[in-house]
Amino acid sequence: MMIDFDSENQRSDSRKKNGEIILKARAVSRGVAIGKVVCLHGRKRQFYRINISSSQIEREIRRFHAAVLLAKRQLKKIGTLNLQINKDNKPSIFDAQLSMLEDKSLLSKIEKKIDKEKVNAEWAVKIVMDSYVANIKSIADEHFRERYVDLEDVADRILTALGGAAKSSIKLEKDSIIVAREVKPSTLIELTESNPKAIITERGGWTSHTFILARELNLPAVTGIKGILRRIQTGEDVIVDGYTGQIILTPTSETRQTFKLAANKFQQIKTDDSEIRKGKLKTLDGKEITIRANVDLPKGYARAKRFGAQGIGLYRSEFLFNQYKGFPGEHEQVESYRKIAELCGNDGVRIRTFDLTVEQLTDESAEKEPNPALGLRGIRLGLSHKKQFRTQLRALLQAAAGNKIDIVLPMISDVSEILKTKEILEKEKSFLKKRKINFGNPRIGAMIEVPAAIFIVEEIAREVDFLSLGTNDLVQYLLAVDRDNESVADWFRTLHPAVLRAIKKVVLSAEENKIPLIICGEMAGSPVYAAILIGLGAQELSMNLNSIQRVRKIISGVAFEETQEITNQLLKCKSADEAENSVHDFFIKKWSHLFSTDFLPPKKSDKFKRLSA
Ligand code: PEP
Ligand code: MG
Repeated sequence: MMIDFDSENQRSDSRKKNGEIILKARAVSRGVAIGKVVCLHGRKRQFYRINISSSQIEREIRRFHAAVLLAKRQLKKIGTLNLQINKDNKPSIFDAQLSMLEDKSLLSKIEKKIDKEKVNAEWAVKIVMDSYVANIKSIADEHFRERYVDLEDVADRILTALGGAAKSSIKLEKDSIIVAREVKPSTLIELTESNPKAIITERGGWTSHTFILARELNLPAVTGIKGILRRIQTGEDVIVDGYTGQIILTPTSETRQTFKLAANKFQQIKTDDSEIRKGKLKTLDGKEITIRANVDLPKGYARAKRFGAQGIGLYRSEFLFNQYKGFPGEHEQVESYRKIAELCGNDGVRIRTFDLTVEQLTDESAEKEPNPALGLRGIRLGLSHKKQFRTQLRALLQAAAGNKIDIVLPMISDVSEILKTKEILEKEKSFLKKRKINFGNPRIGAMIEVPAAIFIVEEIAREVDFLSLGTNDLVQYLLAVDRDNESVADWFRTLHPAVLRAIKKVVLSAEENKIPLIICGEMAGSPVYAAILIGLGAQELSMNLNSIQRVRKIISGVAFEETQEITNQLLKCKSADEAENSVHDFFIKKWSHLFSTDFLPPKKSDKFKRLSA
């Protein structure tokens, strides 16, 4: 459970009042926005309806043709491979799919849709293909009925092709509010070019990468609306309150007026850098704390620095995949790492090697792993896809020449993973040396985010130069609760005694081994949790740039001694309930001037009162 964005009792019930529909969701990124709904469809590739002008029709039809051509080429290639493997001449499903792509009446229906209804190619493909699928499904003959799977496959292939080489440059309308079952981080990056105002989804947890990104972009977001695409339609007026989790569909002019003030105020806060706190950050009793930034979009670092961030504590290098639409080459990587390191100067940047799943590293058509969170991801993927891993390490070594770059290894669960990486690094250094290419000597750090790493943290600490604690995954794996799954959000309990005791163990181990520890999960950027982390002994926190000012304010307003008092209590708690109640009471008693009760965990007794009210 997330305290910062009070998630208690935020069920997706709705009620009507003056034609307004009010939905209750879970707030995951602050802010208020008023706009018009744009629904996103599709799983692999997300798309939406856009109304185009007459002058754009021809270009859209050309895009559609290019996508069909690309899809045909891909199918032919797969068909030939299939032939080589199976060595028979029977027509395959690929032939059936190819003939669908050559079906003149289907293609012309899609063209007509673009032309007559003036919509983007993606939308026309979806509507026409959906109607074909529905027709096939209604056929009595079972053999024919099954062919809808091929049609869906073909639709998916065209849509993917439209999102790749033939990508649209058409923008969303002004003040669009994105509504989707879930939004992928890559889709969100693409959409930011159109400057959307907010996001509403059915799925996704507080620590999912999409919402981490939304907070970085200062984009209000709410989640947890079941059956979202049946309940909210493109074009509807909507208000999103990312503080309370409220959504108001078709608001009256009175309601609009009330929220307009809040939305304007949010826009001001969003762009207001005037109240900047710089210089050394200390608690009231003089304990110094370093704040670094989690930056994925380089342009964010300039702002983070103005807020007082000392370098980048976590650079998620896999975000380059969004920028380069796939695996970035060695040269592109060297340039990107160099650029970010130069921005950080002496404060340095900690670049984490690709923390991806196999599906993301290879291509979208790769077979989906049954359980990607426990699958081939992070360091495991690097060590089993050596070519790409070597390329990345070589790029990092080159960018580190004359720059302060540290390398962070994700998902470490065994010391051997660190040793193997060090070996590869040495080999790549000699490779570069032989070719007289300059390189640096980055420090190596391990992400502590898998429960096994907690139990062997002393051994890990002896092999690395620093530790990086990823609380997002640590909570996920320690409590066996999917961080991306909204329906188990109530089990994502950051104050669970197991989580706090694990963090304490890592802090002590870093101290004993005299190596730095940085905490870089979302916990570090929440004012309530940041105070608790300080009490547990954390001295370096890395967070989203939009959290820096809030966390600085809290740290400079509390005494280290007080933070220790509450964490000592928490470490003795028997359950998450007990810990949350203790935090509530302590914060109200000692720090009510710093924390609004809205951001504290509700007392369990209050919760029952509210539920029965
Ligand atoms: C974490 O797991 O806490 C972390 C910082 O990394 P990510 O959110 O990218 O998994
Ligand atoms: Mg992680």
